[in-house]
Amino acid sequence: MGKIILTGDRPTGRLHIGHYVGSLRRRVELQNSGEFEKIYIMIADAQALTDNADNPEKVRQNIIEVALDYMSAGLDPAKSTLFIQSRISELTELTFFYMNLVTVQRLQRNPTVKQEIQMRGFSESGEENKAGTPVGFFCYPISQAADITAFKATTVPAGEDQEPMVEQTREIVRKFNSVYGPALVEPEILLPENAACLRLPGTDGKAKMSKSLGNCIYLSDSAEEVRAKVKGMFTDPGHLQVSDPGKVEGNTVFTYLDAFCAPEHFDKFGGCFTGRKASFDFHSLDEVKAQYRAGGLGDVMIKNFLAEVLNDTLEPMRVRRKELEADLPYVYEVLRKGSETARAEAARTLADVKRAMKINYFDPGVLEQLIEEQSRKYGNSL
Ligand code: ATP
Ligand code: MG
Repeated sequence: MGKIILTGDRPTGRLHIGHYVGSLRRRVELQNSGEFEKIYIMIADAQALTDNADNPEKVRQNIIEVALDYMSAGLDPAKSTLFIQSRISELTELTFFYMNLVTVQRLQRNPTVKQEIQMRGFSESGEENKAGTPVGFFCYPISQAADITAFKATTVPAGEDQEPMVEQTREIVRKFNSVYGPALVEPEILLPENAACLRLPGTDGKAKMSKSLGNCIYLSDSAEEVRAKVKGMFTDPGHLQVSDPGKVEGNTVFTYLDAFCAPEHFDKFGGCFTGRKASFDFHSLDEVKAQYRAGGLGDVMIKNFLAEVLNDTLEPMRVRRKELEADLPYVYEVLRKGSETARAEAARTLADVKRAMKINYFDPGVLEQLIEEQSRKYGNSL
């Protein structure tokens, strides 16, 4: 059997550069590699509603934003199926069956869920406890298992925060297959190879760039917005004078360079390191880091370089986004068609699941067998 991708994003805002390096950039590469039989990219509106139940309008508005970001980043509807999660009602049926294969205690141990409950102030013991944790939110790893298995996905390209979700999915698959027979495929996560991309920090230096934390550089930000955000970033608090030795580790500006900088950027934007007091002729990021550690290289130069590097990556996306923004009916049609294709595939898996669970009572041949069994039990002559 060929390799199949399923991955996606919650429509809770426009996509940011953390999404890009954590998953989106890789998806586009994989899509164009031709190595995958099928690629499903899901806009997870139902999952977004698990912690935005009182704000469906936010979710509705952001579906098109995410679709525009996808297609401007290079996801091609001719090669990848882009779809909306809630259009596939089979996913909720699968979730319902999988719920019986997972314990409350196992969900409580999921580190990402734990962290997110805390971040959202759902925690029952915390002072922030206004509403508690919505049951739907608590169960979202199970619904994610439904999303992944519905498409018989072998590969899930995602950031590090998704590791516990894919592990939970693998456990559900093993449990299902051992109890009911082999109907489901065990997926694997495909993490970014570059360590800086596993969990890109926010512009405020916080552990994760996240829509919910408001510390993002969006793929659709203008060149000026990117420059302003980069200018406001924290670097090494000990690097007060240009001549001071600076720290590269934990310095978000360098983390972003690790994630985005390519050798050709030194030919294109080497001029950023020419100044009134000092000039440098760098050819690699290692040389920049060595100079920063030694002292004499100012934050302003590095930030100017970073802004250029980011804008170089984002500019082609901005151009494509403008074109797509002018043709919204086309974008919605892509999602409508993609959702139809995805639904047909999920329906096939749901049928396999029901067959394995023997709850396919009225399938051809099954009803006859049922009647025969039950008639024998009641001593009816056939
Ligand atoms: P929310 O705050 O609504 O949860 P989010 O910014 O965390 O939004 P998600 O939609 O939850 O984004 O994540 C979608 C995908 O992007 C996942 O594969 C996730 O691993 C990846 N991702 C999100 N943020 C980052 C990040 N800062 N670094 C690397 N990958 C990320
Ligand atoms: Mg998230």
